[in-house]
Amino acid sequence: EQVLADEVQEQFPMALSRDDAKHAKVLRLDPGEHIAVVDAAQDYFECEIRSFDGATPIVAISGHLDAQPLAAYVCLVQGLAKGDKMETVIRHATELGVSEFIPFAASRSIMKIDAKKAASKTERWQAIAKSAAMQSGQTHLAHVHQPMKLAQLKEALGAFDAVVVCWEEAPGTALLRDALRSAVLSASAGHLARIAVVVGPEGGLAQEEVDAILGCNANANMVSLGSSILRTETAGIVAPALVLYEMGG
Ligand code: SAM
Repeated sequence: EQVLADEVQEQFPMALSRDDAKHAKVLRLDPGEHIAVVDAAQDYFECEIRSFDGATPIVAISGHLDAQPLAAYVCLVQGLAKGDKMETVIRHATELGVSEFIPFAASRSIMKIDAKKAASKTERWQAIAKSAAMQSGQTHLAHVHQPMKLAQLKEALGAFDAVVVCWEEAPGTALLRDALRSAVLSASAGHLARIAVVVGPEGGLAQEEVDAILGCNANANMVSLGSSILRTETAGIVAPALVLYEMGG
């Protein structure tokens, strides 16, 4: 049903979050204007601004919008990298349509992160993913996990239809297209294929990490991204772009 009944609209006036209120202020929105809202369950609505509580818009649902179909559900496992590289990768990969991020505390990550710092960094990265999703009109909000070590990562990767390990030492014949065969099969059976793409940090992935990741999923394969060695932040953007392209995105 395109438009919800009036009584439903009246029953659920809701306040936008403080961040979204700031965004509404920047856009100089007024009562009566319509905005697209994605809720925590990733449902996508058209809402009308009814009033303001101070600076906070109070909105009511006026319609259900169709979410953009995803070519594939892509999770980027990005080796923790220093400076603002994680932010760059998360921003651009979200624009491309990456659905999930796992920052990976790899053995050669120069960026070391303790539990306290991890929480605040993750909050910042999640905010970047949200703002990138909003500015590029995404209807899905990517989830950013807290950094994971290898043991936890291996468990998480078991659930994917395909795991693509980007490794500069992979032979040129290790093609992405071949690594995605299981995911393409899953998609052709009508499922949303779930693909994890692993990119190492500045110092690259250690051989033991590559072996452990390849061993945690029957459909895990190493791939080459060409003969040039890409910077970690370049690979973190290019690899998911190529995966989405191969999956028809
Ligand atoms: N030293 C550079 C830096 O500062 O970022 C290069 C880092 S490269 C070793 C980082 C990661 O990018 C690798 O672990 C790998 O996942 C990915 N990568 C880079 N070039 C690649 C290639 N040609 N094929 C596959 N993966 C590649």
